[in-house]
Amino acid sequence: MIKLYQNAKGCRLRVHIITTGCSISRAIGEILKYRIDKSKNLELNSLDDADIVILNLCAVKKPTEDKEIELAKKIVRMGKRIIITGCLAESSHRRIRRQVPEASVVSVELLLGDNLDEILDAVYSGDTIYSIGHPLQLHYPVNTILDNPLIGTIPIAFGCTNSCSYCIDVKIWGRVKSLPLDEIISQAKKLIRKGVKEIRLTAHDTAAYGLDLGCTLVDLIEKILEIDGEFRLRIGMASPNTFEPISDALLDIILQDDRVYKFIHIPVQSGSNRILRLMNRPYTIEEYAELFNKVRKKLGYYSTIATDIISAFPTETEEDHKATMKMLEKLKPDIVNLSRYGDRPGTPSTKLRPKVNSKVAKRRTKELF
Ligand code: SF4
Repeated sequence: MIKLYQNAKGCRLRVHIITTGCSISRAIGEILKYRIDKSKNLELNSLDDADIVILNLCAVKKPTEDKEIELAKKIVRMGKRIIITGCLAESSHRRIRRQVPEASVVSVELLLGDNLDEILDAVYSGDTIYSIGHPLQLHYPVNTILDNPLIGTIPIAFGCTNSCSYCIDVKIWGRVKSLPLDEIISQAKKLIRKGVKEIRLTAHDTAAYGLDLGCTLVDLIEKILEIDGEFRLRIGMASPNTFEPISDALLDIILQDDRVYKFIHIPVQSGSNRILRLMNRPYTIEEYAELFNKVRKKLGYYSTIATDIISAFPTETEEDHKATMKMLEKLKPDIVNLSRYGDRPGTPSTKLRPKVNSKVAKRRTKELF
């Protein structure tokens, strides 16, 4: 079949991208936008005018997934061809196939590769493509169309060393895989040359960076700070157990160099040791408090410490809930990202019983605000 790469009006295929999820997903969306914009056969366009809509979607929470599936159905009803990619494509392809049979489901790795134009042309011509399970092979430097031209987010690693019982990420992304240090430096230089004033390092766990390469996040930050140019550096979420071994060296750098934000994001998830064990979080609340207090003492009160809490985890009692409230009152984190537990199909915590009754779960979540 002759490839036309044209829509019914004889124009280049018009593509709209919708991205949801974390900073990793958004950074991948920015790379994908550039790939489309650069192609001579494709052009970025609005949702209304698009011939094809790419939905780059997150799988972290079941309620989010439900909304995303509804969104996909709505866009199909608008008469658009759609491709679902990102974490949701990898984790929930069976559900997508059942509930949105018109959608193509494609690994983002394939969309970032050489066959992007062919895939989009085939989908526009009426094919439905299912091709998932292709691990992302990112090689920096890459070009991007940034959502905010002053902020450049760089995924530095994918996957995790932990196996939290509620988390889908490790199923999708596997064990930690870090990008080579020199590649990340070249990406940072590229972004700074482009006028970016804030570099954000992101990963499923930034403190796990380099564990598979024999280097650390501290090594990476030292190298980034050697780059000439006016920029600041922000370090993304770090798991307390991987953050702890590098914390002294990392906090020293943050103290010595004003370009690094005094911002530390270390999710605790619960104030109860019993719940932490069920979550398979590899630390106790006492160890977490010690780490938190060290960060506060070293960086002072002009720092920002963020944490995450999952309320109403299965089997959570009033006593566990009160332990979380007490811990928050005592430590006083500056930012608390609070979410109510919801089963994520395919994760071990879905099997835990009893679940917290939804009325009680709502009340406990409210009390934590
Ligand atoms: S890595 Fe996790 S939070 Fe980020 S988009 Fe994927 S499922 Fe969502």
